[in-house]
Amino acid sequence: MTDSIRISSQQQSRLEIVFDHLEASEDARQRLAQPKQTITVNIPVRMDDGSLKVVQGWRVQYDDTRGPSKGGIRFHEDVTAKEVTALSFWMTIKCAVVDLPFGGAKGGVCVDPKTLSRLELEQLSRGYMRAVYDVVGPDRDIPAPDVNTNATVMGWMADEFTQIERRQVPAVITGKPLGLGGSQGREAATGQGALQVLNIWAQRAGKSPEDLTVAVQGFGNAGYHFARLAHEAGYKVVAVSDSKGAIYSNDGLDPEPIWRHKHKTRELKGMVYCDTSVCEEADFDQLTNDELLELDVDVLVLAALENAITQENAEGVRSALILEIANGPISPEADLILSDCNIEILPDVLVNSGGVIVSYLEWVQNRSGDYWAEEAVEHRLAERLDREAKSCFQLADDEGVSMRIAAYMQGIGRIAQAMDHRGTQDFFNSASS
Ligand code: NAD
Repeated sequence: MTDSIRISSQQQSRLEIVFDHLEASEDARQRLAQPKQTITVNIPVRMDDGSLKVVQGWRVQYDDTRGPSKGGIRFHEDVTAKEVTALSFWMTIKCAVVDLPFGGAKGGVCVDPKTLSRLELEQLSRGYMRAVYDVVGPDRDIPAPDVNTNATVMGWMADEFTQIERRQVPAVITGKPLGLGGSQGREAATGQGALQVLNIWAQRAGKSPEDLTVAVQGFGNAGYHFARLAHEAGYKVVAVSDSKGAIYSNDGLDPEPIWRHKHKTRELKGMVYCDTSVCEEADFDQLTNDELLELDVDVLVLAALENAITQENAEGVRSALILEIANGPISPEADLILSDCNIEILPDVLVNSGGVIVSYLEWVQNRSGDYWAEEAVEHRLAERLDREAKSCFQLADDEGVSMRIAAYMQGIGRIAQAMDHRGTQDFFNSASS
């Protein structure tokens, strides 16, 4: 079943602002206003008790002008086609911001994975791949993990594709386990990339890591690795939170033992989900999630979900800088409030691009059969991000715009240019005269 859901009016107006700064054709403006294709799937899953549950999901391929579309698959009980569309739009921009030869896509499945057994989760993962099989592939659309999906889920999906094709196709999906063609360095890549962007910002601002306090909302995969690496680099990480609450220490926290503790005490339902909070049994001050967002720190890191900061709570934010690791953690209304308060924002499409950069490197390794050591992967990630992040900072300075608008200009400028190479109204008019 195919229908088309457009991006939100806020995303649309942000797009308009960016196009007003760019010399791009009307064709590009029109094409980027909606996704190329939206697939809705209904996946039958045989439950452990013998009953059948039909689970709805989507794959939205927003744009593939610069290459096959790329984007994660999210399992969440609240996910909607509209949310997946918004996420696919951001993926499109993100891949172009860091100059990857990819377009953007996203997948979503409307399910609470914590309610599934391991077998049910495997059935669902394989069922999703069967349902979207016709539209994915190494040269078409390459999925990856997102919230509540991980390497194990990617491994099942890659295996399902391989079984249908009756040949090995590891490049169909990224974020796979190492033994199934995954890349070294993928797990920490998003956190590593986010830290690199923060380091560039700090260097430009003449600050050293030791001068900066950091609070992290969302102590999951991306937030944990960021917090660990930031701590190792000398930043003072004073607070972290998960969905159940936050912990705080004025003297700073060491994220690694906290992460180990969180996992040691977890209650597993299915092998991949953790039900326990970082707060339980830990010897730190406890805060609510809202209190963490209002801490007087230098850097507030948003690494949980969309819309963590909206017009309801934006005025309470007291940090000097926000680092967006989650996708879309600040609503457009909140963006304006924060900007009025002179709070600088380093945007998601640049900050969290480390994940998709290493996904790209995984795809390259799968296709070439040449696998690299962790240091080689990290080096390639750092080199690309250094180049692309510095060029965003420069664009922001040159154009006198926010880092978000600069990053969008960099990404959309590249997509629009690629579209224009296929011919614009001006080109066809002058050719016929
Ligand atoms: P995850 O599921 O591993 O972690 C998310 C964490 O956020 C969990 O610990 C959860 O408990 C916590 N959380 C949820 N609601 C919260 C709340 N209200 N307050 C505080 N914490 C809350 O997911 P992840 O892979 O770390 O992804 C996090 C975000 O980063 C998502 O927006 C995702 O799209 C984005 N992202 C992740 C990657 C990656 O490589 N993991 C790459 C790019 C973008």
